[in-house]
Amino acid sequence: MKPLNSTITAIPPSGIRRFFDIAAEMDDVISLGVGEPDFVTPWRIREAGIYALERGYTTYTGNAGLPRLRELICADLASRYDARYDPATECLVTTGVSEGLDLALRVLLDPGEEVIVPEPCYVAYQPCVSFAGGTPVGVPTRAEDGFAIDVAAVEAAVTPRTKAILIGSPANPTGAVQPPEVLRALVALAERHDLYLLSDEIYDRLTYDGTHTCLGAVPGARERTVVLGGFSKAQAMTGWRVGWLAAPAPIAELCLRVHQYTMLCAPHVSQMAAVEALSNAEPDVAEMVADYDRRRRVFVKGLREAGLECPEPAGAFYAFPSIRSSGLDAETFAERLLREESVAVVPGTVFGPSGAGHIRCSYATALPQLEQAVERIGNFLRRL
Ligand code: PLP
Repeated sequence: MKPLNSTITAIPPSGIRRFFDIAAEMDDVISLGVGEPDFVTPWRIREAGIYALERGYTTYTGNAGLPRLRELICADLASRYDARYDPATECLVTTGVSEGLDLALRVLLDPGEEVIVPEPCYVAYQPCVSFAGGTPVGVPTRAEDGFAIDVAAVEAAVTPRTKAILIGSPANPTGAVQPPEVLRALVALAERHDLYLLSDEIYDRLTYDGTHTCLGAVPGARERTVVLGGFSKAQAMTGWRVGWLAAPAPIAELCLRVHQYTMLCAPHVSQMAAVEALSNAEPDVAEMVADYDRRRRVFVKGLREAGLECPEPAGAFYAFPSIRSSGLDAETFAERLLREESVAVVPGTVFGPSGAGHIRCSYATALPQLEQAVERIGNFLRRL
């Protein structure tokens, strides 16, 4: 048989999966492993989905998505962040941020072009660059800097082949929120070297110390930036598969071209539910965000009391403590913690080399379980 695609063959499966496989065979596991809300989608959103089905909204929508939904997305970006996008030509409803990321990379890249990706980062960034024919170039960030992007290091990584910089803020796995001055410096760098910017803002609503800055609203950024967002996290809608992309019209138009041939449209029922999410679900979102914040405080305090250094996670729902004091590497720590104390976490190395010495713990888990997890981590550390 002829070999299968060499780019895809060369990319290993996600490192998170191995831990799920072990955890699935154990009883009484507290999982801090998944990056998914433990909340069910708020009832009013589910009801809108049910009602959409009852009324027979089971067809395709227009390729770009329901006009009402695009209007609401752009109105939300304008009112919340002063980011201005035309719903008719600059906004596209996607099958989650996952699809938006893939579309944007395919549209921005020619084969062999490089994308700078500050890491540790979301597991899909670098593989998606490769799937789009590009070459990901990781640039480390450091716990000592609160995982802020080192703009000088990014600039040092620029080559004649560099086409774009891909960032996520608030970040998975570190919980870091990029300060506005870092974003401004990044935009200035992109202008100097004529680079595109891709900004994954799926956790925009989950910031706990101050407000989110939308990269598309940073002066100078708009014409070269693709902003990605969605409903999976703040609205607890992971399974609905709906998100959006906002970009200047020439980029959005080409994203739409790929989307119309590969995906046609995001699920109709999910788009109807997303309309409800943006129209009426603000109180539900606020309640969930407040709950994540409570869990965050308890969990981070607990980790520190158990003996782990933990940078303050200002956004998303992850803590990324250092486990260096244990003397174990992240892989061994995570595997032993799972086998000996039945707590599932993800080794930081899964998210890039500079995740070494850290573990990712999702605190999108009920408070009693978080408290119990911290106790078990404490027991584990004491025994070492
Ligand atoms: N971007 C980041 C940073 C994520 O953490 C995730 C999911 O974990 C996604 C994107 C995927 O989002 P969606 O469900 O909208 O495809």
